[in-house]
Amino acid sequence: MGDTSVSNFHSEEKLDNEFKEIEKLKKALEESQDKLEESKIKTEFIANLSHEFKTPLNILMGAMQLIEMYALNGSIIDTDKKLEKYMDTMKQNALRLLKLINNIIDITKIYSSELSLEFHNYDVVSIVKNVVQSIAVYAKLKSVNIHFKTELNERIIACDADKIERIMLNLLSNALKFTDGGGSIVVSINSYDNKVHISVEDNGIGIHEDKLKIIFKRFRQVDKSFTRNREGSGIGLSIVKGLVEMHNGSIRVESQYKKGSRFTIELPETVLDETSQAGLYELYEDRVRERVRVELSDIEDIC
Ligand code: ADP
Repeated sequence: MGDTSVSNFHSEEKLDNEFKEIEKLKKALEESQDKLEESKIKTEFIANLSHEFKTPLNILMGAMQLIEMYALNGSIIDTDKKLEKYMDTMKQNALRLLKLINNIIDITKIYSSELSLEFHNYDVVSIVKNVVQSIAVYAKLKSVNIHFKTELNERIIACDADKIERIMLNLLSNALKFTDGGGSIVVSINSYDNKVHISVEDNGIGIHEDKLKIIFKRFRQVDKSFTRNREGSGIGLSIVKGLVEMHNGSIRVESQYKKGSRFTIELPETVLDETSQAGLYELYEDRVRERVRVELSDIEDIC
């Protein structure tokens, strides 16, 4: 009797150890699968990125060759404005490269916690309104209507104005990129529950339901079939999410394929104890114009 219980105890202990060993192996397997998946995503990302670098570079080199040819055969006098067209193309593609490089630098900084924000009290309503206004001229070029809606005159919150501008530019340039002519974009800003709610809504191509959950993840571009006419590296939204979270805020997306998308940001309505700083945000038109051009540089129908 005593012997049986000892042997039962030993076999139970053995079983327990085997079970623990299996659990350990299962965990190791899961971890290596995760690593494999991550490295697959990174490889795909690098391949996609290389394409993103190559396309504008090829266009730049093509334009340079044509200009060289005109210079060599003596037809450089630009009566039919060909040179001007080539120069515009070159500028647009140089800006695309700049956007890509800026995005890579920023995402690296955000995820290695090297980016620090400069918080002051700013009127977030005027920041958002200014960005909408500066993008309106480009929306018109694409025949997309853009509306700004709010019942707030102003709302002072502690934020980094430069980064709010960046977040808005990114969401708006996506809305413009994925909305065809005749469509519309509505930007609204409200305040409730001690939070500022900013939404960017379009009635463009929308996003498939199964793709919605990966949209803010690093290294992902939702649909590769779009890369032909709607270029992009898929870094923009992960930068937006990183910057929103650095404001202790959150971002979410609702979308219906072929119907449109709505991105909503919530920012806490906290203020810093520095009343003299309120409303210091100024619109430096040249800077914003240049930023808008950089941000929109991968939208074919505009630049
Ligand atoms: P990208 O530089 O590729 O535009 P983002 O991270 O900004 O990178 O966006 C990732 C992907 O999310 C886009 O390639 C696109 O497929 C999808 N997307 C983002 N915004 C919209 C939108 N407003 N409408 C439809 N698709 C969108």
